[in-house]
Amino acid sequence: MGAVDVIIVGAGTAGLGALREVRKRTQRFIIINDGPWGTMCARVGCMPSKALIEAAGEFHRRLVFSELGLSGSDGLRVDLGAVLARVRKVRDAFVNETRELTDDLGERAISGRARLRGPHAVEVGGRVLEAGSIVVATGSRPAVPADWRALSDRLLTTDSLFEQTALPSRLAVVGLGPVGLEMAQALARLGVQVTGFHAGRTIAGLGDGPVNDMALETLRHELEVHLGHEARPTAEGAGLRVTAGSASAVVDRVLVAMGRTPCVEGLGLENLGVPLDEKGLPEVDRATLQVAGLPVFLAGDANAEVPLQHEAADDGHIAGINAVSASTRRFVRRTPLSIVFSDPTLARVGLRFDALDQARVVVGEARFADQGRARIMLRNAGLLRLCANREDGTLVGAELFAPEGEHLAHWLAVAIHRRSTVFDLLRVPFYHPTVEEGLRTALVEAAKQLPNGDGFPLLAMPSE
Ligand SMILES: Cc1cc2nc3c(=O)[nH]c(=O)nc-3n(C[C@H](O)[C@H](O)[C@H](O)COP(=O)(O)OP(=O)(O)OC[C@H]3O[C@@H](n4cnc5c(N)ncnc54)[C@H](O)[C@@H]3O)c2cc1C
Repeated sequence: MGAVDVIIVGAGTAGLGALREVRKRTQRFIIINDGPWGTMCARVGCMPSKALIEAAGEFHRRLVFSELGLSGSDGLRVDLGAVLARVRKVRDAFVNETRELTDDLGERAISGRARLRGPHAVEVGGRVLEAGSIVVATGSRPAVPADWRALSDRLLTTDSLFEQTALPSRLAVVGLGPVGLEMAQALARLGVQVTGFHAGRTIAGLGDGPVNDMALETLRHELEVHLGHEARPTAEGAGLRVTAGSASAVVDRVLVAMGRTPCVEGLGLENLGVPLDEKGLPEVDRATLQVAGLPVFLAGDANAEVPLQHEAADDGHIAGINAVSASTRRFVRRTPLSIVFSDPTLARVGLRFDALDQARVVVGEARFADQGRARIMLRNAGLLRLCANREDGTLVGAELFAPEGEHLAHWLAVAIHRRSTVFDLLRVPFYHPTVEEGLRTALVEAAKQLPNGDGFPLLAMPSE
C-alpha cells in the first residue's frame, strides 16, 4: 500500500469523529485500532454505566412508594445477574452501532497496535505505513497503581465491572471522581454494601465547597464515604482490607476508579522529536489539536485535556479537518460542561468557582429541600449555585447537585455560551411547577446583589 493522506490511530469517539471528517475530503486514509472495535464510551464507559444507574435508580424509588400511597414495594427484589445482563444487552446494541462506521472500510481498517515511527510513518503488524498526516486518538485506560493491580481477581475496574455476572456483597470503591461516584451510588442502590474512599476533599471534580458539602451529606445516607487519605489494600482472609488514615473496611472486592491514564505507552510519541511531559505527552494546541507544528494531531482522552465524550468527539472532528487541510484551522472550544449521573445529579458549567476572583462575582443559590416540584416528586434534596459578574450580571459558572440536574446544567450551558446575564434569564418564562423554578430562585438571589437588580420585575417583561 502506498502513502495515504491520513492515518487515524484509534477508533474510539475521537478517532471516529476524525474519520467522519476525513472521509468527506479524501478516500486515501487508514484507520488502525488495537483491541475490540466499537468505542470505549459504548463498550465500557458512558453507556453501560448509565444502563446500570438506570436500574439502580428505578429500584431505589421503591423507598418512596409508600409515601406516594403505593403498596407492595417490600416485595421488590434485585436480580443482579439480570441487571448486568441487561447492561450488556444495551451495551452490545450501542457497540454494534459504532462498529457500522468502520465495517465497510475493507483494507482501510486495520486491527493492531500502532506505533509512530515519525510524523509521517506508523508501524503496525510489522508493516510501516506512510501518510501525509496522522491523527492519534488512542484514548485512555483505568489508572491502577501497582499495589492495587496485585489484587488480581479481587480487583475490578470499569473495564471489567460490566462483564460480571454477579457482584460481591461488600465492595470498596476507591476514587470518587465522576466515574467512581456514579458506580458507588448505583451499586449501593442495587444492594451491594459499598464503602467509598477518596484521597481528596471534594468529590466528582467539584470545585465549590457548599455543593460538595451538600452532596456528601446526602450521599452518606446511602454509602459510607471516607475522604482525605490515600487508601491502601492488604489481604485479609478471602477478602481484603482497605485502609485510609484511621478508616478501614473489610470487603470482598474493590473497584478501582482512580482516574484514567492516556494510552500513549509504546506509542512512539518520542519519535516525533518534540519534548514530552511527565505523562509522556507532547504539548497540544486545543484550538487545532496539532502537536508542535507537525502534521500530527492528538485527540480525545489521549491528550488528557477534557476526558469527556462530547469533547473527544469535537477533538476528533477538529483533528480530522486539520489533518486534511492545507492550513491548520483554529476552533473555539465549547463552554465547559460536565455532568455526573448521581442522584441528585451533580454538574459543573462554565468557569470553576475556585478559579474565580470572588470579589468580582455574585453568587445566587437555590436549595431543593423546599423546592415545590422537587417536594412533589419526593426528590427534594440538593443545592444549585451560580456565579455572575458583579459588574454586568453576565453568568460565568454554575455548580449544582439537583434533581433533574442534567437539564438544568444544559440550560445554564446555553446561557453561559450566549453570554446571557442574570436579567436575560429572568425574562424567559418559568413554568409552574417545575424544577427550573429552583434555577429562578438562584437567579433572583444573584440579581438582588447586582446594580439595579433588586427591583427587577419577576412577573413580566420590563418595558423597553
Ligand atoms: C465508566 C465511564 C463512564 C463514562 N461516562 C461518561 C459520560 O457519562 N459522559 C461523558 O461525556 N463521558 C463519559 N466518560 C468518558 C468518555 O467515555 C471518554 O471521554 C471518551 O469515550 C473518550 O473517547 P476516545 O476516542 O478518546 O477514546 P476511546 O474510545 O478509548 O478510543 C481509543 C481507541 O484507541 C485504541 N488504541 C489505543 N492504543 C492504540 C494503539 N497503540 N494502536 C491502535 N489503537 C489503539 C483503543 O483500543 C481504543 O479502541 C466515561 C468514561 C468511563 C470510563
